[in-house]
Amino acid sequence: MTATIIDGKAFAGRVREKVAAHVARLKEEHGITPGLAVVLVGDDPASEVYVRSKGKMTKAVGMLSLEHRLPADAAQDEVMRLVAELNANPEVHGILVQLPLPRHMDEAEVLAVIDPAKDVDGFHISNVGLLGTGQRAMVPCTPLGCLMMLRDHHGDLTGMDAVVIGRSNIVGKPMAQLLLGESCTVTIAHSRTRNLADVVRRADIVVAAVGRPEMVPGDWIKPGATVIDVGINRTEAGLVGDVDFASAVKVAGAITPVPGGVGPMTIACLLANTVTACCRANDLAEPDGLTV
Ligand code: NAP
Repeated sequence: MTATIIDGKAFAGRVREKVAAHVARLKEEHGITPGLAVVLVGDDPASEVYVRSKGKMTKAVGMLSLEHRLPADAAQDEVMRLVAELNANPEVHGILVQLPLPRHMDEAEVLAVIDPAKDVDGFHISNVGLLGTGQRAMVPCTPLGCLMMLRDHHGDLTGMDAVVIGRSNIVGKPMAQLLLGESCTVTIAHSRTRNLADVVRRADIVVAAVGRPEMVPGDWIKPGATVIDVGINRTEAGLVGDVDFASAVKVAGAITPVPGGVGPMTIACLLANTVTACCRANDLAEPDGLTV
């Protein structure tokens, strides 16, 4: 048996089309253009690449894209003042502060000043709390993308056994909350989990978000399970996930590749969150299927 490959690149293209269609409708029917502001502090080359590609895709779906750059030695107060200005700017519906911030800054303090309604990354403590209590929140982009693909593949996830490997605030924990919201039976595994192989073997759904190249071999996967590989690891052989794709694809029922799986969905979900935030800010109906 060979697993169905979940094509995240194609899926992300469909999400962006849906976003673009809704943006066009907002402009035509309400004269509103959704706006996304990205704040980049310093000159980390990976962050530069992300920010550039976010800006390009934001414009491509017809939204307003604002980019604010501050030098690496900027004071934290300066960043917080800029965020406060963006909070007050009615043209801006989504604010993203590109992480990591330079070492001399406290990320939690900076994220805390973002207006939760404009927090399209979903990292503000209010959104974390809203998601955790099953209320309407801004949902972090990467787990949201994973959930969209799972829903698309399975329809109803009720009662499925899901194992999330990794407990970070940006992927593992919100992913687990989303799966719980879908009435899965959720286990969160991490570096201290005992008998990880046995834990993973129980799962109908495995989400791997660890950052260790190919650490999940095919013989940990229950036959027919759905495997979502969030990991992005640069190796001499190129980009690989946290799952050993070659062995897992022979056992799983469905699997996301790396690259071309979860990665492209993350930016698509950022655009989706910006449209959602814009609709909420203007008391308008939200587009179907772009959030939970
Ligand atoms: P992170 O903050 O470093 O968290 C990694 C998690 O993995 C931690 O909870 C850690 O456990 C756990 N872990 C480490 N070694 C383990 C082991 N041997 N067995 C089981 N669990 C182990 O990473 P992250 O930010 O969540 O990112 C995870 C991966 O996803 C990275 O490869 C990252 O590049 C990728 N990523 C991709 C996207 C995308 O768009 N596709 C977005 C975000 C992240 P402890 O908590 O016990 O230390």
